[in-house]
Amino acid sequence: MSMRPAGVLALQGDYEAHAKALLAAGASRVIEVRRLDQLDEIGSLVIPGGESTVMGMLLDRFGMFDALRNRIEQGLPVFGTCAGLILLARRIEGSDQTRLGVLDVTVRRNAYGRQVDSFHTDITTDIPEVSTIDGIFIRAPRILETGPGVQVLARYHGDPVLVREGNVTAATFHPELLPGAPVHRWFLSLAGAGA
Ligand code: GLN
Repeated sequence: MSMRPAGVLALQGDYEAHAKALLAAGASRVIEVRRLDQLDEIGSLVIPGGESTVMGMLLDRFGMFDALRNRIEQGLPVFGTCAGLILLARRIEGSDQTRLGVLDVTVRRNAYGRQVDSFHTDITTDIPEVSTIDGIFIRAPRILETGPGVQVLARYHGDPVLVREGNVTAATFHPELLPGAPVHRWFLSLAGAGA
């Protein structure tokens, strides 16, 4: 197991819920990452939901953007949810907003429209230890395309909602709201295995 603490990017968004989920999932220590030097302390990083444009802008402003992208490219296990997924994506439909571009997907922001801003539904994953969970979607993005290296681990009406490409994992929904944090537990087990 990685001895380094788990990190949560805590510039904006629902990072507190992720910090709690990581603790519930067995992390012995969680660092709320707000400064460049903290990127060296962590063994994994969750990028929360929130507002992807604001998070990208703050990463830039605090001089963390390039360092974070480098650490991910060097193998830091990272898990982005919702806005976090958008920030990780290589392509964002109709937008030139700042993004890390380390996950070979095309996303559409706020793709489920105003009528169904938020909803929840059972999601069956291909991960045995996670199995079927309550997928909570809040102004969720939609993954329109995945590159050949991207593994799709769950779908909703045919759309990928949980994906993984090497050390980069991402969900369009909000697993931090699930009791027992099964998805975070799985993510930490990947991170501990050096994935
Ligand atoms: N709509 C937000 C964005 O585009 C994502 C929503 C969320 O993270 N709940 O950044």
